[in-house]
Amino acid sequence: MSNALTDMRNLRFLLYEVFNVEELTKYPFYADHSRETFDMAIDAAYQLAQEVFWPCFQECDRLGVEFDGQQVRVPKSLHEVWRHYKEGGWFAPLVAYEYGGQQFPHAVYAAALFLFNCANTTAATYTSGPYGAGHLIEEFGDEAMKAKYLPPLYTGEWGGTMALTEPDVGTSVGDIKTTAVKAPDGDHYLIKGVKRFITSGDHDITENIIHPVLARIEDAPPGIKGLSLFLVPKYRVNDDGTPGAFNDVATAGVEHKMGIKASATCTLNFGEHDACHAWLIGEANKGLEYMFQLMNRARIFVGIQAVGGASAAYQCALAYARERLQGREVTSRDPLAPQIPIIEHPDVRTMLLRQKAFIEGCVGMILYCATTADIREHTENEEEKERLQLLLELLTPCCKAHGSDGAFESIRLAMQCLGGAGYCEEYPVAQMLRDNKVFSIYEGTNGIQALDLIGRKVPMQQGAAVRALMEEIGKTVADAAATEALKPLADKVQEALNEIGMTLMHLAGVGLSGDIPLYIANATIFLDMFSRLIMSWQLLIQAVTAQRAIDGGSSDDPFYRAKIETARFYVNQELPHALATAGLLRGNERTALDFKPEWFS
Ligand SMILES: Cc1cc2nc3c(=O)[nH]c(=O)nc-3n(C[C@H](O)[C@H](O)[C@H](O)COP(=O)(O)OP(=O)(O)OC[C@H]3O[C@@H](n4cnc5c(N)ncnc54)[C@H](O)[C@@H]3O)c2cc1C
Repeated sequence: MSNALTDMRNLRFLLYEVFNVEELTKYPFYADHSRETFDMAIDAAYQLAQEVFWPCFQECDRLGVEFDGQQVRVPKSLHEVWRHYKEGGWFAPLVAYEYGGQQFPHAVYAAALFLFNCANTTAATYTSGPYGAGHLIEEFGDEAMKAKYLPPLYTGEWGGTMALTEPDVGTSVGDIKTTAVKAPDGDHYLIKGVKRFITSGDHDITENIIHPVLARIEDAPPGIKGLSLFLVPKYRVNDDGTPGAFNDVATAGVEHKMGIKASATCTLNFGEHDACHAWLIGEANKGLEYMFQLMNRARIFVGIQAVGGASAAYQCALAYARERLQGREVTSRDPLAPQIPIIEHPDVRTMLLRQKAFIEGCVGMILYCATTADIREHTENEEEKERLQLLLELLTPCCKAHGSDGAFESIRLAMQCLGGAGYCEEYPVAQMLRDNKVFSIYEGTNGIQALDLIGRKVPMQQGAAVRALMEEIGKTVADAAATEALKPLADKVQEALNEIGMTLMHLAGVGLSGDIPLYIANATIFLDMFSRLIMSWQLLIQAVTAQRAIDGGSSDDPFYRAKIETARFYVNQELPHALATAGLLRGNERTALDFKPEWFS
């Protein structure tokens, strides 16, 4: 079963023609890199995705994980994925040389992650664990902790997790009950509690697993202000760096899920026998603050995971639509005329175009964020840094929530293109749909992303982030409007910009009036509206770039023509939903708000 996974030309177009990632090499941190090293990384990632991640995609679903009451075992193919990933140095591409990394930009790493997730998102849940845990230690741990734990995490010697959720504590992290008590002897704490749904919480790929755990030190304040971050190894680490005694982190069970079945989602008992040693990362009571500082990146990564799956499903649908013969031209009356490929039917083409537009817009949005993160991290211009940080914060919930909801819808369309075959497990699309659903749930549900957008990001610094975004969109609209071919598109995006601007003013009035329940009542449709504007903007940037290439002499290149028509399709067919929502929001839609829970029969 072959699958192109994605259009590599599109990925390169975005990286080099739209976002000019080579320019990042002007920052000293990236100075050793060049277009050549970026290309080598992207090519190697594609090869790894095709030759190692993809071949075990269906096996991951079929075999799942095994748990014998003590230890979780994963399919052998995932051990192989890990081995190749390790050999390729993929565990720390963003990390500084001093910690053994390769100092690649986020933009290049994001492109590589996208490719791995196109091929096998289940496998990617394991490989991304060590970097997340290591990054927390690198940012907030002390030197001794860094020296002990970073090398095995950043080389992929050990696994890593992120342990927040508990059986009774999901969204409401402020209610975390896991406790930490300072040990009477030594520098550690004793931790006790149950964590649920922990990705890669246990497996047999590595000999040790490092868990960053949120817990409450005795007498800490209630709520989120009393949470601290701890480093908890599965096996305590000897002074020579080797794993030592078992650290009383017991696996109580694994979840049986609708998708990503070979990703071990574990319930972990910390300190069943009062012998779970934990080391405080950074300062006490700052645990959630530390987590939030990394949340932007983690949530953008979820968008990458989701759109990766959508891309692979789209490639499958596209190949099928070119081959599957069914029906005849609508104008043909000859029953013996040869059948035509279903891609010839406008309804199928519409479904394919909706997928293509979503994927290209969404990958654009994510790579924009990744490039923005790179510049923000390395620019010395403080004003620019602050502005880029605002943009990133505003765009993050859209990458996560619109990326994952849009990806699920996109894969639904891919399945529809395959008809009955799509519904059967012989083709990969059914699994892709199941695997993808989790992205709207974990790392903060999409409902919570929507609340974050409207409740925190939009009003932050009196709307400064929104103003910065509107200015960016305005610049692209002006660029597009200067080209005759793109002027109609530019006008439509400008109209949406005005409508959404007025809607934001209206909502600000609702907020100022004190009707907070109404202000947040339609957070999800607000996020959808806002994201459609961002997607249109991204596709317009791509169209402007394509038009310039055409004007520069590439007039017969179908890739550039398709870029412009894809943007036109999105602006004509998907953006109008945002205008309808804007009207709804300005009408103070409050039906759900006022609908009493007891009216549900
Ligand atoms: C496969 C998988 C892997 C996971 N991996 C990890 C992991 O590695 N580490 C980890 O710590 N966690 C992990 N999680 C947990 C995940 O982050 C939570 O499931 C998620 O945050 C939602 O929590 P919950 O399931 O308790 O749902 P709930 O919090 O019970 O929410 C249920 C519904 O109510 C809504 N809701 C809840 N509160 C509010 C509110 N205040 N306002 C509006 N709506 C609200 C939610 O949006 C959701 O729609 C994983 C989950 C899954 C399924």
